[in-house]
Amino acid sequence: MNAAATPEPAAVEIVALTKRYAPGTPAAVDRIDLRIASGSYCCLLGPSGCGKSTTLRMIAGHESVSSGDILLDNRNITNLPAAARGTAMMFQSFALFPHLSATDNVAFSLKMKGVGKAERHKRANDLLERVAMGHLAARKPGELSGGQQQRVALARALITEPRVLLLDEPLSALDPFLRIQMRAELRRWQKELGLTFIHVTHSQEEAMALADTMVVMNHGVIEQVGSPHAVYNHPASEFVARFMGGHNVFDTPAGPIAVRNDRMRIAAATQAATDGALAATVTDVEYQGTYVLLGLALDGAAAGRQNVSVLLSEAAFLARPYAHGEAVHLSWAEADARVLGPGVKPPSERAPAPTGAEAARQDDTAVLAVPF
Ligand code: ADP
Ligand code: MG
Repeated sequence: MNAAATPEPAAVEIVALTKRYAPGTPAAVDRIDLRIASGSYCCLLGPSGCGKSTTLRMIAGHESVSSGDILLDNRNITNLPAAARGTAMMFQSFALFPHLSATDNVAFSLKMKGVGKAERHKRANDLLERVAMGHLAARKPGELSGGQQQRVALARALITEPRVLLLDEPLSALDPFLRIQMRAELRRWQKELGLTFIHVTHSQEEAMALADTMVVMNHGVIEQVGSPHAVYNHPASEFVARFMGGHNVFDTPAGPIAVRNDRMRIAAATQAATDGALAATVTDVEYQGTYVLLGLALDGAAAGRQNVSVLLSEAAFLARPYAHGEAVHLSWAEADARVLGPGVKPPSERAPAPTGAEAARQDDTAVLAVPF
């Protein structure tokens, strides 16, 4: 396809990026540093309100920056208008014009630029071909399924030949079945196009399925950056361990640790307890097909810290079923315990932004070394 040849992907670098919507309020995004490798799939992940969309909108140029910088391949784009940045945005609702055909939806931004009808229709239809929508190019959004609309929205974002595609919860309007199908398509498109994708989601499952690099955010700052494998196997803080799910957090004399629930060892309380084993009671047994998920309450644990889960293979559970109300002992191998760092403080407990000479000094070292 030559009309919309894929441009070289860009690396994105964010330096001390801050957004404060109103003076005196906590920063929605608080001095974050991040490097996103060129041609990678990056997911910004975190709970609602943690600053994901604000970060994405600042990269897109749809939101002004309070302080800090955004670079695209070493070009400072912080104050450029959205259209001059080399980025394009794909929205949650796809935001297609209902009265326009797929072709006219995709061609819209070219029309705004004054590109002639024949030329813009050709480029739009080439792109629709590329996302396997050529045969439906004449249809209006209302005559297309959710998945087909997503492809039109993708083609519409790509028509500006962006080097970075920004996606804000692009799958959340879809039903669960379509969501899983479409996320596989997004991943395939990203690899095929070779562009840099930055995708915002509150779903850790979605981020794990898609990302080369996951950026876990909380309270306007970054808690952890890494591959899904690295984040899942080495959560940096209790927040990350709990947000990712599939982990138990235990308080030990050396501080809190996380243990994956499929690495837990469980034994009936009638057996001799191993050293350091914790007494617990089975409170829930959930059959999940390949696995059986046991919910348990730790005996004598502090309020809010009793709940623990153990994931057993179906075969292990069938070999030794545990019943609701049964007393057990829980333990783990030392090698499966992950020591957790303190994580991010809530905004009210954080140090104020540095000023003057202190800020200038920090600027030299502000960029996090993120392993690619
Ligand atoms: P997320 O996308 O992670 O859910 P947002 O970036 O939308 O989070 O919001 C981060 C914080 O900034 C939230 O506290 C939110 O209420 C606030 N916020 C977002 N947009 C605006 C706005 N336009 N004006 C004022 N506050 C905003
Ligand atoms: Mg959001």
